[in-house]
Amino acid sequence: MTSLQQGTVDTFKEQFAGPVFEPTDAGYNEARQIWNAMIDRKPALIAKCSSVEDVVSAVNFGRDQSLLISVKGGGHNIAGNAVCDDGLMIDLSQMKDIEIDVEKRRAFVGPGCTLADFDAAAQMHGLATPLGINSTTGVAGLTLGGGFGWLSRKYGMTVDNLMSVDMVTADGRQTRASANENSDLFWGTRGGGGNFGIVTRFEFELHPVGPDLLSGLMVFPFDQARAVVTQFARFTETMPDELNVWLVIRHAPPLPFLPESVHGQPIVALAICYVGDPEAGEKLIAPLRSFGDLHGEHVGVQPFVNWQQAFDPLLTEGARNYWKSHNFVKLTDDVVKVALEYGDKLPSPHCEIFIASIGGQTGRVAPDAMAYSSRDANYVMNVHARWETPAEDERCRQWARAFFDATKPHASSGAYINFLSEDDTDRVEFAYGESYERLVEVKQKYDPENLFRINQNISPH
Ligand SMILES: Cc1cc2nc3c(=O)[nH]c(=O)nc-3n(C[C@H](O)[C@H](O)[C@H](O)COP(=O)(O)OP(=O)(O)OC[C@H]3O[C@@H](n4cnc5c(N)ncnc54)[C@H](O)[C@@H]3O)c2cc1C
Repeated sequence: MTSLQQGTVDTFKEQFAGPVFEPTDAGYNEARQIWNAMIDRKPALIAKCSSVEDVVSAVNFGRDQSLLISVKGGGHNIAGNAVCDDGLMIDLSQMKDIEIDVEKRRAFVGPGCTLADFDAAAQMHGLATPLGINSTTGVAGLTLGGGFGWLSRKYGMTVDNLMSVDMVTADGRQTRASANENSDLFWGTRGGGGNFGIVTRFEFELHPVGPDLLSGLMVFPFDQARAVVTQFARFTETMPDELNVWLVIRHAPPLPFLPESVHGQPIVALAICYVGDPEAGEKLIAPLRSFGDLHGEHVGVQPFVNWQQAFDPLLTEGARNYWKSHNFVKLTDDVVKVALEYGDKLPSPHCEIFIASIGGQTGRVAPDAMAYSSRDANYVMNVHARWETPAEDERCRQWARAFFDATKPHASSGAYINFLSEDDTDRVEFAYGESYERLVEVKQKYDPENLFRINQNISPH
């Protein structure tokens, strides 16, 4: 620890209820790990908050000691923003309180909840809100950046369903933001990342969902990818809001419904989820089967919570990851051509090209209604490079960068801040798009010293 006196740290620890780790403590190394193994940072202190009071004292301590502060929710941020070198890591992952008001259809969610925590609590009552597709992701970071998943075409972005936040701001004050209270802060919080303070409670609107939904995968050989991707691009332009079809190009995992000979082979897969009556969904998805000669499919009615965990085995923590992302209004033939070219040279068995077709309700909100402004993003492409050893770093990153560059001329403005990598700092302003100027004003008001800057940062200066 560089400038901190041990006595100051000891005083902080005495009035902090949760555990605090210093670099020599047992448990320190485990506590600094996050999802992306490419990130290897060593904070001076890790403070695991157990209450809002802990968050207040951590913010006050970090500010008064002029420490760099990082904030951890679920720890999934690809750029590694949950953890910092030599500073104070404020870890919220133990704050998992969750309360469902069934009558009012509201969820009150602690900042340490994962999507699995949220879905489990809400689905007990047949309710849900749009979240992401990997159940170990943190609700906090996902929400603050925008958030989308299988329910988004029908019910909008996660931020469209956010009703209020309780927050600790840089001055250590507890405040609430909603449409009626601190509405400028609420505007900025819905898409402006963790720039304005630490959210200690999220309030979401809930919708009746499932609990069983039609969902699953259809898998085609990569040598038919041109036909599959082209038809996917056209089909998704007109499908109803209830239907979701996302596309993945990768090597086949050892899925039990695929012949063993297909395992490890390049494939193109459609991931499907119908948010409505399964029989109606069955009719709508029937044409997808004729996109090519199926290697296999596993589509059926299953609990929504199971589908929310279906991709978890492919997205476990501890691998090395590097992402590049674009938004598209339309998947033109040119985009399809480049996707096929790079899909044909995946540099590791875990790399994938992933195209989420959102649109629907996500596009019906005015771009200036809140900080998240990419309302024309009908498709979000994530070039997901993932591998196991440092020896593969350069090859895999190069592939992702080259693919990103090749698709750039066809991308729309804005980008999803939650998919920006560590080296994407020059894209932050572009990513916030038309909201950026107003975000700077909100930042100047609520965090003029830029205490919260380990994020997709909006500089107040
Ligand atoms: C495997 C995987 C799958 C994903 N799938 C999806 C998906 O389907 N849809 C989607 O929209 N996104 C998805 N994402 C992206 C995800 O939204 C981001 O990685 C997000 O940052 C994760 O939030 P977190 O709380 O887990 O991360 P963290 O790394 O803990 O935090 C992310 C950022 O938010 C800030 N932050 C966290 N908690 C708070 C808080 N309480 N108050 C203020 N700031 C806070 C942090 O400082 C950091 O800057 C996925 C990510 C991964 C790794």
